[in-house]
Amino acid sequence: MRFAQRRTPHARAPGVYAESTSVVTQTNKEAVCLSGEPLTTLPPVETSVDKPILGIESSCDELACAVLSADGCTVLSDEVHSQIEMHAHFGGIVPEVASRDHVRRLTFVLEQALKKAGVTLSDLGGIAVTAGPGLIGSLLCGLEFAKGLALATGLPLVGVHHHEGHLAAAFLSDKPPVGPFVALLVSGGHTSLIHVEKLGGPYAVIGETRDDAAGEAFDKTAKFLGLGYPGGIVIDRLAADADADRFPFPDVMAGKNNFDFSFSGLKTAAIVLARAQPAPLEGQALRDFCASFQAAVVENLLKKAFRAVRLHDTKQLVICGGVAANRELRTRAETRAHREGVRLIIPEKRWCTDNAAMIARAGWTRLMCGAKGRDTISAQPYWKLA
Ligand code: ADP
Ligand code: MG
Repeated sequence: MRFAQRRTPHARAPGVYAESTSVVTQTNKEAVCLSGEPLTTLPPVETSVDKPILGIESSCDELACAVLSADGCTVLSDEVHSQIEMHAHFGGIVPEVASRDHVRRLTFVLEQALKKAGVTLSDLGGIAVTAGPGLIGSLLCGLEFAKGLALATGLPLVGVHHHEGHLAAAFLSDKPPVGPFVALLVSGGHTSLIHVEKLGGPYAVIGETRDDAAGEAFDKTAKFLGLGYPGGIVIDRLAADADADRFPFPDVMAGKNNFDFSFSGLKTAAIVLARAQPAPLEGQALRDFCASFQAAVVENLLKKAFRAVRLHDTKQLVICGGVAANRELRTRAETRAHREGVRLIIPEKRWCTDNAAMIARAGWTRLMCGAKGRDTISAQPYWKLA
Protein backbone atom coordinates (compact mmCIF):
# COMPACT_ATOMS: atom_id res chain seq x y z
CA MET A 1 0.00 0.00 0.00
CA ARG A 2 1.32 3.43 -0.92
CA PHE A 3 1.06 6.23 1.61
CA ALA A 4 1.35 9.25 -0.66
CA GLN A 5 -0.54 12.03 1.08
CA ARG A 6 -2.64 14.40 -0.98
CA ARG A 7 -5.78 16.43 -0.68
CA THR A 8 -8.85 14.41 -1.55
CA PRO A 9 -12.48 15.44 -1.72
CA HIS A 10 -12.66 14.25 1.85
CA ALA A 11 -9.24 15.42 2.98
CA ARG A 12 -9.10 15.27 6.74
CA ALA A 13 -6.26 16.02 9.05
CA PRO A 14 -3.78 14.73 9.67
CA GLY A 15 -4.30 13.32 6.22
CA VAL A 16 -6.42 10.99 4.19
CA TYR A 17 -4.00 8.79 2.35
CA ALA A 18 -4.34 8.50 -1.40
CA GLU A 19 -6.09 5.38 -2.60
CA SER A 20 -3.68 3.34 -4.61
CA THR A 21 -4.92 -0.19 -5.06
CA SER A 22 -8.65 0.04 -4.53
CA VAL A 23 -10.15 -3.16 -5.93
CA VAL A 24 -13.59 -1.71 -5.30
CA THR A 25 -12.89 1.27 -7.56
CA GLN A 26 -11.63 -0.81 -10.43
CA THR A 27 -14.42 -3.34 -10.43
CA ASN A 28 -17.14 -0.71 -10.32
CA LYS A 29 -16.00 1.77 -12.90
CA GLU A 30 -19.48 2.12 -14.37
CA ALA A 31 -20.79 3.17 -10.98
CA VAL A 32 -18.18 5.86 -10.47
CA CYS A 33 -19.13 9.41 -11.33
CA LEU A 34 -16.31 11.85 -10.70
CA SER A 35 -18.06 14.94 -12.03
CA GLY A 36 -18.78 17.79 -9.67
CA GLU A 37 -22.34 18.38 -10.84
CA PRO A 38 -24.39 20.17 -8.18
CA LEU A 39 -27.14 18.42 -6.26
CA THR A 40 -30.56 18.61 -7.89
CA THR A 41 -33.01 20.89 -6.14
CA LEU A 42 -36.20 19.15 -5.06
CA PRO A 43 -39.52 20.00 -6.70
CA PRO A 44 -42.14 21.44 -4.36
CA VAL A 45 -44.48 18.42 -4.66
CA GLU A 46 -44.88 16.17 -1.67
CA THR A 47 -46.13 12.60 -1.71
CA SER A 48 -46.15 10.53 1.43
CA VAL A 49 -43.90 8.01 3.07
CA ASP A 50 -45.95 5.61 5.15
CA LYS A 51 -43.25 3.26 6.42
CA PRO A 52 -39.89 3.71 8.20
CA ILE A 53 -36.80 4.67 6.19
CA LEU A 54 -33.42 2.97 6.44
CA GLY A 55 -30.35 5.23 6.27
CA ILE A 56 -26.84 4.04 5.39
CA GLU A 57 -23.67 6.15 5.73
CA SER A 58 -20.19 4.99 4.70
CA SER A 59 -18.58 8.04 3.08
CA CYS A 60 -15.39 7.98 5.13
CA ASP A 61 -14.31 6.14 8.27
CA GLU A 62 -17.67 5.74 9.98
CA LEU A 63 -20.10 3.02 9.02
CA ALA A 64 -23.63 3.72 10.18
CA CYS A 65 -27.18 2.41 9.72
CA ALA A 66 -30.29 4.01 11.20
CA VAL A 67 -34.05 3.60 10.98
CA LEU A 68 -36.26 6.70 10.91
CA SER A 69 -40.01 6.62 11.64
CA ALA A 70 -42.47 7.01 8.75
CA ASP A 71 -43.30 10.59 9.79
CA GLY A 72 -39.59 11.52 9.68
CA CYS A 73 -39.66 12.71 13.30
CA THR A 74 -38.31 9.85 15.42
CA VAL A 75 -35.01 8.03 15.13
CA LEU A 76 -35.93 4.41 15.90
CA SER A 77 -32.33 3.21 15.87
CA ASP A 78 -28.95 4.73 15.17
CA GLU A 79 -25.91 2.44 14.92
CA VAL A 80 -22.46 3.89 14.29
CA HIS A 81 -19.29 1.87 13.94
CA SER A 82 -16.26 4.15 14.08
CA GLN A 83 -12.87 3.08 12.72
CA ILE A 84 -10.94 5.70 14.71
CA GLU A 85 -8.83 3.13 16.56
CA MET A 86 -7.78 1.46 13.31
CA HIS A 87 -6.70 4.70 11.62
CA ALA A 88 -5.18 6.30 14.74
CA HIS A 89 -2.37 3.78 14.32
CA PHE A 90 -1.47 5.46 10.98
CA GLY A 91 -2.15 9.03 12.19
CA GLY A 92 -4.84 9.50 9.52
CA ILE A 93 -7.39 7.67 7.41
CA VAL A 94 -6.14 4.96 5.05
CA PRO A 95 -8.92 4.61 2.43
CA GLU A 96 -8.29 0.99 1.53
CA VAL A 97 -8.40 -0.01 5.19
CA ALA A 98 -11.63 1.98 5.59
CA SER A 99 -13.40 0.26 2.67
CA ARG A 100 -12.34 -3.22 3.65
CA ASP A 101 -13.66 -2.69 7.16
CA HIS A 102 -16.96 -1.32 5.80
CA VAL A 103 -17.43 -4.44 3.67
CA ARG A 104 -16.73 -6.66 6.65
CA ARG A 105 -19.21 -4.95 8.97
CA LEU A 106 -22.09 -3.77 6.77
CA THR A 107 -24.39 -6.75 7.36
CA PHE A 108 -23.81 -6.74 11.11
CA VAL A 109 -24.41 -2.99 11.52
CA LEU A 110 -27.58 -3.24 9.40
CA GLU A 111 -28.89 -6.15 11.47
CA GLN A 112 -28.23 -4.27 14.70
CA ALA A 113 -30.08 -1.19 13.42
CA LEU A 114 -33.11 -3.23 12.31
CA LYS A 115 -33.16 -5.19 15.57
CA LYS A 116 -32.96 -2.09 17.78
CA ALA A 117 -35.73 -0.41 15.77
CA GLY A 118 -37.85 -3.56 16.09
CA VAL A 119 -38.39 -3.84 12.33
CA THR A 120 -37.46 -6.15 9.47
CA LEU A 121 -36.65 -5.21 5.88
CA SER A 122 -40.25 -5.88 4.90
CA ASP A 123 -41.47 -3.16 7.32
CA LEU A 124 -39.47 -0.46 5.51
CA GLY A 125 -40.71 2.11 2.99
CA GLY A 126 -37.39 3.10 1.43
CA ILE A 127 -33.60 3.25 1.67
CA ALA A 128 -31.40 6.35 1.77
CA VAL A 129 -27.66 6.00 1.24
CA THR A 130 -24.81 8.50 1.07
CA ALA A 131 -23.72 8.78 -2.58
CA GLY A 132 -21.09 11.52 -2.12
CA PRO A 133 -18.91 13.42 -1.54
CA GLY A 134 -16.38 11.20 0.17
CA LEU A 135 -13.80 8.51 -0.40
CA ILE A 136 -14.71 6.58 -3.53
CA GLY A 137 -14.01 3.14 -2.05
CA SER A 138 -15.95 3.87 1.14
CA LEU A 139 -18.87 5.37 -0.81
CA LEU A 140 -19.09 2.36 -3.13
CA CYS A 141 -19.29 -0.05 -0.18
CA GLY A 142 -22.46 1.52 1.21
CA LEU A 143 -23.97 2.38 -2.16
CA GLU A 144 -23.57 -1.05 -3.77
CA PHE A 145 -24.80 -2.72 -0.58
CA ALA A 146 -27.87 -0.46 -0.60
CA LYS A 147 -28.49 -1.18 -4.29
CA GLY A 148 -28.43 -4.90 -3.54
CA LEU A 149 -30.91 -4.44 -0.69
CA ALA A 150 -33.20 -2.34 -2.89
CA LEU A 151 -33.08 -4.91 -5.66
CA ALA A 152 -33.86 -7.77 -3.29
CA THR A 153 -36.70 -6.00 -1.49
CA GLY A 154 -38.13 -3.81 -4.25
CA LEU A 155 -37.77 -0.75 -1.99
CA PRO A 156 -37.15 2.70 -3.49
CA LEU A 157 -33.56 3.88 -3.07
CA VAL A 158 -32.36 7.46 -2.88
CA GLY A 159 -28.75 8.70 -3.03
CA VAL A 160 -28.07 11.38 -0.42
CA HIS A 161 -25.51 14.21 -0.50
CA HIS A 162 -23.47 13.91 2.71
CA HIS A 163 -23.70 17.66 3.37
CA GLU A 164 -27.45 17.65 2.90
CA GLY A 165 -27.36 14.89 5.51
CA HIS A 166 -25.53 17.20 7.95
CA LEU A 167 -28.13 19.92 7.26
CA ALA A 168 -30.92 17.37 7.79
CA ALA A 169 -29.57 16.62 11.29
CA ALA A 170 -31.04 19.98 12.34
CA PHE A 171 -34.48 18.59 11.44
CA LEU A 172 -34.09 15.77 13.95
CA SER A 173 -34.29 18.25 16.82
CA ASP A 174 -37.45 19.17 18.75
CA LYS A 175 -37.39 22.64 17.24
CA PRO A 176 -36.30 22.26 13.61
CA PRO A 177 -35.65 25.27 11.38
CA VAL A 178 -38.70 26.94 9.89
CA GLY A 179 -38.27 28.61 6.50
CA PRO A 180 -34.95 29.81 5.06
CA PHE A 181 -31.84 29.76 7.22
CA VAL A 182 -28.08 30.18 7.14
CA ALA A 183 -26.06 27.04 7.91
CA LEU A 184 -22.50 26.83 9.14
CA LEU A 185 -21.30 23.38 8.08
CA VAL A 186 -18.11 22.50 9.88
CA SER A 187 -16.57 19.06 9.61
CA GLY A 188 -13.25 17.34 9.12
CA GLY A 189 -13.32 17.82 5.37
CA HIS A 190 -15.51 20.88 4.82
CA THR A 191 -16.19 24.33 6.19
CA SER A 192 -18.86 26.39 4.50
CA LEU A 193 -21.61 28.91 5.03
CA ILE A 194 -24.73 28.00 3.09
CA HIS A 195 -27.99 29.83 2.51
CA VAL A 196 -30.73 27.20 2.64
CA GLU A 197 -34.14 27.99 1.18
CA LYS A 198 -35.48 24.69 2.51
CA LEU A 199 -34.18 21.16 3.07
CA GLY A 200 -33.84 19.77 -0.45
CA GLY A 201 -32.66 23.10 -1.85
CA PRO A 202 -32.09 25.44 -3.39
CA TYR A 203 -28.76 25.93 -1.63
CA ALA A 204 -26.38 28.83 -2.15
CA VAL A 205 -22.82 28.64 -0.85
CA ILE A 206 -22.07 32.03 0.72
CA GLY A 207 -18.50 31.26 1.71
CA GLU A 208 -16.11 28.38 2.31
CA THR A 209 -12.61 27.62 3.44
CA ARG A 210 -9.80 28.52 1.10
CA ASP A 211 -7.53 25.85 2.51
CA ASP A 212 -7.94 23.57 5.54
CA ALA A 213 -11.35 22.77 7.04
CA ALA A 214 -11.93 23.70 10.68
CA GLY A 215 -11.87 20.05 11.79
CA GLU A 216 -8.70 19.52 9.79
CA ALA A 217 -7.04 22.43 11.65
CA PHE A 218 -8.08 20.89 14.97
CA ASP A 219 -6.74 17.49 13.93
CA LYS A 220 -3.44 18.72 12.49
CA THR A 221 -2.73 20.97 15.46
CA ALA A 222 -3.56 18.14 17.87
CA LYS A 223 -1.27 15.83 15.95
CA PHE A 224 1.57 18.35 16.18
CA LEU A 225 1.00 18.62 19.94
CA GLY A 226 1.19 14.83 20.20
CA LEU A 227 -2.46 14.46 21.19
CA GLY A 228 -3.34 11.69 18.74
CA TYR A 229 -5.99 11.40 16.04
CA PRO A 230 -8.66 12.70 15.61
CA GLY A 231 -7.71 15.68 17.72
CA GLY A 232 -10.81 17.89 17.79
CA ILE A 233 -12.43 16.12 20.69
CA VAL A 234 -9.12 15.91 22.62
CA ILE A 235 -8.54 19.66 22.28
CA ASP A 236 -12.15 20.22 23.35
CA ARG A 237 -11.56 18.15 26.51
CA LEU A 238 -8.18 19.67 27.39
CA ALA A 239 -9.48 23.21 26.85
CA ALA A 240 -12.23 22.88 29.45
CA ASP A 241 -11.80 25.55 32.16
CA ALA A 242 -8.39 26.56 30.80
CA ASP A 243 -7.19 30.12 30.11
CA ALA A 244 -8.10 30.98 26.50
CA ASP A 245 -6.36 34.38 26.74
CA ARG A 246 -2.90 33.06 27.62
CA PHE A 247 -1.62 32.50 24.07
CA PRO A 248 -2.12 35.07 21.29
CA PHE A 249 -3.54 33.83 17.98
CA PRO A 250 -3.96 36.03 14.91
CA ASP A 251 -7.37 37.15 13.66
CA VAL A 252 -7.26 35.23 10.38
CA MET A 253 -8.82 36.93 7.33
CA ALA A 254 -9.14 40.14 9.35
CA GLY A 255 -10.19 43.01 7.13
CA LYS A 256 -11.49 40.62 4.44
CA ASN A 257 -15.04 41.65 3.76
CA ASN A 258 -16.25 38.22 2.60
CA PHE A 259 -17.52 34.97 4.03
CA ASP A 260 -14.53 32.75 3.26
CA PHE A 261 -12.46 31.05 5.93
CA SER A 262 -8.79 30.12 6.19
CA PHE A 263 -7.62 27.69 8.83
CA SER A 264 -4.27 26.73 7.43
CA GLY A 265 -2.78 30.00 8.72
CA LEU A 266 -4.18 29.42 12.20
CA LYS A 267 -2.74 25.91 12.25
CA THR A 268 0.68 27.25 11.18
CA ALA A 269 0.45 29.99 13.83
CA ALA A 270 -0.20 27.28 16.42
CA ILE A 271 2.84 25.29 15.31
CA VAL A 272 5.11 28.36 15.25
CA LEU A 273 3.87 29.48 18.67
CA ALA A 274 4.29 26.02 20.19
CA ARG A 275 7.83 25.77 18.82
CA ALA A 276 8.69 29.20 20.24
CA GLN A 277 7.89 28.12 23.81
CA PRO A 278 10.93 27.72 26.08
CA ALA A 279 9.78 24.24 27.11
CA PRO A 280 7.53 21.60 25.51
CA LEU A 281 3.87 22.33 26.19
CA GLU A 282 2.45 20.14 28.93
CA GLY A 283 0.16 20.31 31.95
CA GLN A 284 -1.61 23.64 32.44
CA ALA A 285 0.36 25.31 29.63
CA LEU A 286 -0.87 22.65 27.18
CA ARG A 287 -4.46 23.08 28.39
CA ASP A 288 -4.23 26.87 28.04
CA PHE A 289 -2.70 26.50 24.58
CA CYS A 290 -5.58 24.24 23.48
CA ALA A 291 -8.12 26.70 24.91
CA SER A 292 -6.48 29.66 23.14
CA PHE A 293 -6.35 27.84 19.81
CA GLN A 294 -9.91 26.58 20.13
CA ALA A 295 -11.16 30.09 20.98
CA ALA A 296 -9.47 31.47 17.86
CA VAL A 297 -11.12 28.84 15.61
CA VAL A 298 -14.52 29.33 17.21
CA GLU A 299 -14.37 33.13 17.05
CA ASN A 300 -13.43 32.93 13.39
CA LEU A 301 -16.37 30.68 12.57
CA LEU A 302 -18.97 32.56 14.59
CA LYS A 303 -17.94 36.03 13.47
CA LYS A 304 -18.68 35.15 9.84
CA ALA A 305 -21.71 32.99 10.57
CA PHE A 306 -23.53 35.71 12.50
CA ARG A 307 -22.60 38.33 9.93
CA ALA A 308 -24.07 36.08 7.24
CA VAL A 309 -27.28 35.79 9.23
CA ARG A 310 -27.48 39.58 9.56
CA LEU A 311 -26.91 40.16 5.85
CA HIS A 312 -29.16 37.40 4.53
CA ASP A 313 -32.41 38.53 5.99
CA THR A 314 -32.98 35.48 8.13
CA LYS A 315 -32.99 35.16 11.87
CA GLN A 316 -32.07 31.47 11.92
CA LEU A 317 -28.67 29.84 12.13
CA VAL A 318 -27.97 26.11 11.93
CA ILE A 319 -24.52 24.85 12.96
CA CYS A 320 -23.83 21.27 11.88
CA GLY A 321 -21.04 18.80 11.07
CA GLY A 322 -18.52 17.11 13.38
CA VAL A 323 -16.98 20.34 14.75
CA ALA A 324 -20.47 21.45 15.88
CA ALA A 325 -19.98 18.94 18.70
CA ASN A 326 -17.36 21.31 20.16
CA ARG A 327 -18.53 22.61 23.54
CA GLU A 328 -16.93 26.04 23.25
CA LEU A 329 -18.52 26.54 19.83
CA ARG A 330 -21.94 25.54 21.17
CA THR A 331 -21.73 27.75 24.25
CA ARG A 332 -20.40 30.83 22.48
CA ALA A 333 -22.95 30.43 19.68
CA GLU A 334 -25.78 30.25 22.20
CA THR A 335 -24.63 33.39 24.01
CA ARG A 336 -24.29 35.29 20.77
CA ALA A 337 -27.60 34.05 19.38
CA HIS A 338 -29.35 35.18 22.54
CA ARG A 339 -27.69 38.60 22.35
CA GLU A 340 -28.48 39.09 18.66
CA GLY A 341 -32.00 37.63 18.70
CA VAL A 342 -31.09 34.76 16.37
CA ARG A 343 -32.84 31.38 16.51
CA LEU A 344 -29.99 28.88 16.82
CA ILE A 345 -30.31 25.20 15.97
CA ILE A 346 -27.40 22.87 16.68
CA PRO A 347 -28.13 19.12 16.41
CA GLU A 348 -27.45 16.83 19.35
CA LYS A 349 -23.75 15.94 19.50
CA ARG A 350 -24.33 12.37 18.26
CA TRP A 351 -25.94 13.79 15.11
CA CYS A 352 -23.15 16.34 14.49
CA THR A 353 -20.48 13.74 13.77
CA ASP A 354 -21.14 11.30 10.89
CA ASN A 355 -24.20 9.11 11.42
CA ALA A 356 -26.97 7.50 9.38
CA ALA A 357 -29.97 9.11 11.12
CA MET A 358 -29.18 12.36 9.29
CA ILE A 359 -28.90 10.46 5.98
CA ALA A 360 -32.27 8.80 6.60
CA ARG A 361 -33.79 12.23 7.37
CA ALA A 362 -32.41 13.80 4.19
CA GLY A 363 -33.52 10.75 2.20
CA TRP A 364 -36.97 10.92 3.79
CA THR A 365 -37.40 14.46 2.43
CA ARG A 366 -36.29 13.35 -1.05
CA LEU A 367 -38.53 10.26 -1.01
CA MET A 368 -41.42 12.50 0.06
CA CYS A 369 -40.84 14.40 -3.17
CA GLY A 370 -40.98 11.24 -5.23
CA ALA A 371 -37.23 10.66 -5.65
CA LYS A 372 -36.22 7.16 -6.71
CA GLY A 373 -33.55 5.66 -8.92
CA ARG A 374 -32.30 2.28 -7.85
CA ASP A 375 -30.08 1.61 -10.83
CA THR A 376 -29.07 5.11 -11.77
CA ILE A 377 -27.37 6.29 -8.59
CA SER A 378 -23.61 6.52 -8.83
CA ALA A 379 -20.94 7.29 -6.27
CA GLN A 380 -19.85 10.92 -6.59
CA PRO A 381 -16.70 11.69 -4.59
CA TYR A 382 -16.63 15.32 -5.81
CA TRP A 383 -20.37 16.01 -5.64
CA LYS A 384 -21.13 19.70 -5.12
CA LEU A 385 -24.04 20.83 -2.97
CA ALA A 386 -24.61 23.94 -5.07
P1 ADP B 1 -16.46 14.15 8.07
O1 ADP B 1 -15.47 15.25 8.01
O2 ADP B 1 -15.96 12.84 7.56
O3 ADP B 1 -17.80 14.52 7.49
P2 ADP B 1 -17.51 14.52 10.73
O4 ADP B 1 -18.62 15.35 10.19
O5 ADP B 1 -17.87 13.43 11.70
O6 ADP B 1 -16.68 13.80 9.60
O7 ADP B 1 -16.44 15.48 11.40
C1 ADP B 1 -15.24 14.98 11.93
C2 ADP B 1 -14.40 16.17 12.40
O8 ADP B 1 -15.03 16.75 13.56
C3 ADP B 1 -13.00 15.79 12.83
O9 ADP B 1 -12.10 16.72 12.26
C4 ADP B 1 -13.02 15.92 14.34
O10 ADP B 1 -11.78 16.28 14.90
C5 ADP B 1 -14.04 17.02 14.53
N1 ADP B 1 -14.65 16.99 15.85
C6 ADP B 1 -15.40 16.00 16.40
N2 ADP B 1 -15.75 16.32 17.67
C7 ADP B 1 -15.17 17.54 17.94
C8 ADP B 1 -15.14 18.41 19.06
N3 ADP B 1 -15.76 18.10 20.19
N4 ADP B 1 -14.44 19.57 18.94
C9 ADP B 1 -13.81 19.91 17.79
N5 ADP B 1 -13.80 19.14 16.70
C10 ADP B 1 -14.48 17.96 16.77
MG1 MG C 1 -19.46 14.52 7.97
